[in-house]
Amino acid sequence: LDGVDTLGGLLEIVRRVHGEKVALVVDDATLTYAELDLRSTQAAHALERDAMGAGDRIAVLGKGSLSSVSLMFGAAKARAIYVPINSRLAPKEIAYILAHAEPKLLMVDAECLDLLPRIAAEAGQLPKLLATVPNGVGLEVFDEWLEGTPSSMPSRSYAAEDAVVTLYTSGTTGHPKGVRLSSRSLLGVAQALRAAGDPWFGWNDRTVSMVSQPAFHIGGVWWLVQGLSQGSTNVLLRGFDAKQVLRIIPKYRVATTCMAPAMIQLLLLEPGCREVDFSSLRAINYGGSTCPTALLREAMEVFGCGFCNAYGSTETGNVVVSLRPEEHLEASDQRLRAVGKPMPGVEVRILDENWEDVGTGATGHIAVRSPSNMIDYWKNDEATRSTLVDGWLMTGDAGFRDEEGYIHVSDRIRDMIISAGEKIFPAEVENVIRTHPGVEDVAVIGVPDPLWGEAVRALVVVAAGTAGTALRPGDIIRYVRGRVGEYKVPRAVEFVESLPRNAAGKILKRELREPYWRGQDRRI
Ligand code: ATP
Repeated sequence: LDGVDTLGGLLEIVRRVHGEKVALVVDDATLTYAELDLRSTQAAHALERDAMGAGDRIAVLGKGSLSSVSLMFGAAKARAIYVPINSRLAPKEIAYILAHAEPKLLMVDAECLDLLPRIAAEAGQLPKLLATVPNGVGLEVFDEWLEGTPSSMPSRSYAAEDAVVTLYTSGTTGHPKGVRLSSRSLLGVAQALRAAGDPWFGWNDRTVSMVSQPAFHIGGVWWLVQGLSQGSTNVLLRGFDAKQVLRIIPKYRVATTCMAPAMIQLLLLEPGCREVDFSSLRAINYGGSTCPTALLREAMEVFGCGFCNAYGSTETGNVVVSLRPEEHLEASDQRLRAVGKPMPGVEVRILDENWEDVGTGATGHIAVRSPSNMIDYWKNDEATRSTLVDGWLMTGDAGFRDEEGYIHVSDRIRDMIISAGEKIFPAEVENVIRTHPGVEDVAVIGVPDPLWGEAVRALVVVAAGTAGTALRPGDIIRYVRGRVGEYKVPRAVEFVESLPRNAAGKILKRELREPYWRGQDRRI
């Protein structure tokens, strides 16, 4: 499969080797590599017939389908740019992305058809619409749209550095930003993975890979594209339902997947999880947020396969730092807290406020130089300039490198709390609180404080079964005291029913902070 380095050329090459193999499974419906290649070729012709092509944006709203993956590759073949939109956003937010991306086509999955009138009301005007399935609202269906188009593609060359996808960030930092990624962003390390026999993620061309993360987040898009570039069979989840996942793993003999820690926790909490046959699993890759060590150890024991930490962001395109399965074996807690070492071709620096490298063990801003880094933020030069500096991508994460060269992510810089001039990383306090047996979930945030600037506040979800045992705020505060520096101990603890998370499983800290900071400025 050498030479698979562009989205436009990928299927043509993989199909030659694996044509009859199932490439995609969605809700038990399948497409082989030959069928996916054919449908994407037809989609490219249909786009061009309808006067869409190089550089045009082609948007999709939904949880992912055989048609949306066909359209993604069709767009790449027509040198257009695929823009998958988070179907969990409110109509107003979707309208914002449509106005910003200005797509010429919007394909809508079945579950989002009901949203269309409200999106139209917010957006004023919508582009050409398609639906993935027959519908009662008169929209042309993807399959009909392909009818009559040629089934072969004139030979075309594609440049690895051209934009192929624009992914909108989850907007936890404000308005979503459109991250433009190239084929190189998504496929840049695929070659290195194959050359090294993939000691990271558990792929080979016999692999069944489960795409657990949403089809509109980097975790889902990257994982799917990697899986297809390795010739594996890719089972796409349309949303994360722990019961269903525990059925799918043995049913399809899933060998590898990538999950957010919150998803792993949901699986472990599911009754019957320990009775499931996980013998097909070679690797569970985890990333998107910090994985608590206790959770990781429990998961390693229950699933009994390799575990691999995958650190990256929408802006880095690919996973850029990784702790390989063998590095998890007999590892200390300190080792398991690391996100790992750079992937081949990736460089990482930890910088202070003056852009100087900090020493071993010192915390600074994690900067990444990688062929997979984003091209830019679409139509946002200012944000591009402050994020991509001299070829280095400022991740927005604080972290450090330990004595053995392993990189640790402390927290998002914007979530850092400054209390009486002291810097506090909420993740450190959360990790302690999470080990309290009465705690199921926790978020630590900074709230305004007239004396200290910011004060540490913990929002705690009590573990099921302990709700009646009257856990009090003082119990949590006493528990934390002595385990971290006094200035990091929460001033207040609030018990909440649940914590808001985005579709990638991340706690929405901005949403939690918002009621406290209304009308006041907070440094981001
Ligand atoms: P936005 O950019 O809109 O604020 P976001 O922070 O959710 O959204 P993503 O690109 O989805 O953006 O997530 C990337 C961030 O997720 C990283 O910068 C890091 O903070 C966190 N992250 C990713 N992988 C890991 C990991 N393996 N361990 C710890 N944190 C991780």
